[in-house]
Amino acid sequence: MSAASHFIYTAQPARVIFGRGRLADLATEVAALGARRALVLCTPEQRGMAEQAAAQLGERCAGIHDGARMHVPIETARRATDEAARLGADCAVALGGGSTIGLGKAIALESSLPIVAVPTTYAGSEMTPIYGITADGVKKTGRDLRVLPRTVIYDPDLSDGLPLAMSVTSGINAMAHAAEALYARDGNPVMSLMAEEGIRSLALGLRRLVQGAPGDQAASREMCLQGAWLCGTVLGHVGMALHHKLCHTLGGTLDLPHAPTHTVVLPHALAYNTTAAPEAMARIARALGVQEAATGLHDLARELGAPLSLREIGMQEADIERATGMALANPYWNPRPIEADAIRDLLRAAWAGERPTLSPPATAH
Ligand code: NAD
Repeated sequence: MSAASHFIYTAQPARVIFGRGRLADLATEVAALGARRALVLCTPEQRGMAEQAAAQLGERCAGIHDGARMHVPIETARRATDEAARLGADCAVALGGGSTIGLGKAIALESSLPIVAVPTTYAGSEMTPIYGITADGVKKTGRDLRVLPRTVIYDPDLSDGLPLAMSVTSGINAMAHAAEALYARDGNPVMSLMAEEGIRSLALGLRRLVQGAPGDQAASREMCLQGAWLCGTVLGHVGMALHHKLCHTLGGTLDLPHAPTHTVVLPHALAYNTTAAPEAMARIARALGVQEAATGLHDLARELGAPLSLREIGMQEADIERATGMALANPYWNPRPIEADAIRDLLRAAWAGERPTLSPPATAH
């Protein structure tokens, strides 16, 4: 069924403030939520930015907690929740990437504190009601509207310093949400418009960022951040498929880095789905400004200097078989059925960093 023939669309509330210098609106936005004591969350590396936020909050700042860590370990979540209670916080300001916003969500899940998110990467978590918490080495994810940030401040000033390599992988991570949204089973025309525009903004923004033309950097960052907003929004509204399942498996089981894993796998996941989702692929290709989605994305990643193989980001060849087995267990819905041999081939090609080949499915769909 095409996304346009039948759909249900429930828009999720979120107030978005976008613009350079808009961190200055933080105290007003916290006050608008009726909050008086906001706890600012960050990673140790982003303590300086968090201090800027605390200064903006003035007397509405309850403190800074710099305990955010990758994948939200449960102990980290408990410490932050206890700290919020100890300080009498009535709001969490999550300033950083997906890991810090994830920590805010873990607190909100326990205590229903409203979150003001101030994203500094392109991962997109700020626009979703999806949370993830890692316990005993297993990351559990779920959806709950209590964790959807109430207000999001996109201030491009805060992502200007995001290193180029991280900007590229984070941007392609965001594109992955939009690419899968275009063939989602529960997609709809509004989400498809946002997804296509999100990919277009990021592709253009990242190209210009990497080309590094003087005077172009500020506008490129703004373009990337608008793309991230659009891609995060679609992630929050529709279900994901094979690509996200593979990345969740590879990240969770083999501890591969989040955004680089998305970057390497996406062209191969698109190649796998090419014949099953031709309309989505045409839209992705159009947004990227290339002839064909999967190979075009691989070529773009190369042009942007991104990692192209799972081997170079830490995966052992011997793990291909294990990852194949895990990808087949409890698969997500996908436009093309999950076939063991083809998934093994996909992972092998991604591990080796090959340009994807567009193989037809073994069985008619
Ligand atoms: P991250 O939050 O782990 O950040 C990586 C590093 O970059 C950290 O050290 C951080 O302090 C630093 N950093 C962030 N912004 C910076 C900046 N502007 N300048 C300099 N350094 C900066 O990375 P991420 O890729 O944003 O997030 C990944 C995590 O987010 C994963 O755990 C993923 O599962 C989760 N995620 C969740 C959702 C969701 O909807 N729940 C969506 C996307 C990602």
